[in-house]
Amino acid sequence: MKRKQFVKTSTLAITSTILAPLVSCLPEPRKEIAQGPAVGRRNWGRNIIYKAKNLAEPASVEELQEMVKQAGNKKGLGSTHSYNDIADSPMTQISLRKLNKVISIDESKNTVTMEGGIRYADLGPQLYENGFALHNLASLPQVTVAGACATGTHGSGTGNKSLANALREIEFCTVEGELVHLSRDNNPDIFDGVVVSLGGLGIVTRLVLDIQPAFDARQDLFLDLPLASVVENFNEIMSSGYSVSLFTTWQNDIVDQVWIKRRVDKPIKDLGTEFFGGKVCQKNIHPIIDLSAESCTEQMGVVGPWYDRLPHFKINGMPSAVDELQSEFFVPIANAADGMRAIAKLGTKILPYLYISEIRTIAADNLWMSQFYKRDSVAFHFTWKPNWPEVQKLLPEIEAVLAPFGVRPHWGKLYTINKGTIQNSYERFPDFLKLLKQYDPNGKFKNDYLNRIIYA
Ligand SMILES: Cc1cc2nc3c(=O)[nH]c(=O)nc-3n(C[C@H](O)[C@H](O)[C@H](O)COP(=O)(O)OP(=O)(O)OC[C@H]3O[C@@H](n4cnc5c(N)ncnc54)[C@H](O)[C@@H]3O)c2cc1C
Repeated sequence: MKRKQFVKTSTLAITSTILAPLVSCLPEPRKEIAQGPAVGRRNWGRNIIYKAKNLAEPASVEELQEMVKQAGNKKGLGSTHSYNDIADSPMTQISLRKLNKVISIDESKNTVTMEGGIRYADLGPQLYENGFALHNLASLPQVTVAGACATGTHGSGTGNKSLANALREIEFCTVEGELVHLSRDNNPDIFDGVVVSLGGLGIVTRLVLDIQPAFDARQDLFLDLPLASVVENFNEIMSSGYSVSLFTTWQNDIVDQVWIKRRVDKPIKDLGTEFFGGKVCQKNIHPIIDLSAESCTEQMGVVGPWYDRLPHFKINGMPSAVDELQSEFFVPIANAADGMRAIAKLGTKILPYLYISEIRTIAADNLWMSQFYKRDSVAFHFTWKPNWPEVQKLLPEIEAVLAPFGVRPHWGKLYTINKGTIQNSYERFPDFLKLLKQYDPNGKFKNDYLNRIIYA
C-alpha cells in the first residue's frame, strides 16, 4: 500500500485513542527530526501527526529555562522515534537537538557528561575514540539518550540491563525554569524513579552515564532454527553471545535468524556451521529478509567497534523497513517458552501484517517505571506493515495471550493494554505519581498520553 493511501485508510478507521493524533496529509520527506511548519509535523515513523502548535529549539540552557517558565504546556522531544504520542504536547514540544555535545569524560570515575539533546550516534564514536564504551545499545543508534532513558529503551543480552541503567546523574529543568540535579549516589531514595520518566518531570538538560573501556565486537548469524529447539534451549541460545536477537515471522515452527553479537575482548569459541539446528549464514542480511543489508552493521564475524556492532543498523544507515509500525511486549524470562508458543499459535493471523518479529532478553533492574523492574525479561517485538486498522485489531489478541504472564508494553511503541492493567503492573507506580506531582504540580508537562495512561 502506498504511503498516501495508508494514511487515508488509517484516518478513516481509527477508533482508539492510541493514535488519536493521526490525520491525513500529504507525504513529506523523512528528516532526522520532524521539522517544517509547527503544525502538521510527524514523528519519525510518520504514523503520528503531532498536535503541538509549536516546536521550540533552544540554543542554550538559559534560553530553555526562560521558555519553560512561560505559560502553556511543554514536553521534551527527542529524535521523534516513538510510535505513539508520548512525545507530543498540547502546546509546545521542546527539542534540545542544538544541545548535543559531549561535555566531558571523567576517566577516574568512568563517566561521560553530555548535553540533553545528544544521540547515541553522536556519542558512540566520540567515546570509542577516547577508549570508552557504553554497556549496550538499541537496534538503532539514532535515538537520543534522554528519549531512550525516558521510555526504557533496551538492547539485548541476558546479562545486560536497559540503556537507562547507565544513567548516574541527571539534570532537568522544572516548570519554574529551575535546574534540578539528582544522582544515583546522592539521591538514592528517588533516583530510580526519575530515570524512566516518560518525559513527565521536566526537560532533561544534562546526563551523566557510566562508561567502561572500549571493546570491539563481531556478529555471527545462523538461519532457520527449529522453534522447538529454540524453546527447549532458550537460555543457552540467548546466553551464547553478549547480545543475542532472534528474528521470526512465526511461520512453519521456524526461527528465521539468530544474530549473535560477541565481544572480542575475551577469548571466544568458534560457533561452527550449525547452531541448535540452524545453519550458518553466508552473507550479510537484513532482519526483513527481502531488504538490502546495506544499512545493517557488518556481520559474518567481521570485528568492529562496539557502537557499530551492538545496534543492527549503521549510524548513517536508514534503520528497519522505514514504512512500518512497531509494538513490543515484555514478560518474565521464565515465561519465554510459553510466550513463544502462544504467539506462534497466532502466526497465520499475524503474518499478513507483519514484516518481522524480534525476540530479545533484558536483565532486571530497580528503576520504578522500567518494564524490567525486578524481573529478567524476554521482549517480543513486532515490526508491522503500515496498516494500523488491522494491527489495531491484532494487538489485543497478542496482549491477551501474554496477559497471564504479566505483560508490560514498551512505553514508546503501539499497544492497547488499558491504563489500569499498566498501573497495577508497576509496584512503584504510586511513588512515581507522587514524583510527577512534586516536580510538575500544575501539569505543565502533561500530554494526552500521560493523561490517558498515567494520570487517569
Ligand atoms: C527503527 C526503530 C528502532 C527502534 N529500536 C528500538 C530498540 O532496539 N529498543 C527499544 O527499546 N526501542 C526501540 N525503538 C523505540 C525508541 O527507542 C523509543 O521510542 C525512544 O524513546 C525514542 O527516542 P527518541 O529520542 O526518539 O525520543 P522521542 O520519541 O522523541 O521521545 C520519547 C520520550 O522521551 C521524552 N524526551 C525526549 N527528550 C527529552 C528531554 N530532553 N527531556 C525530557 N523528556 C524528553 C519525550 O517527552 C517522550 O516522553 C525503536 C524505534 C525505531 C523507530
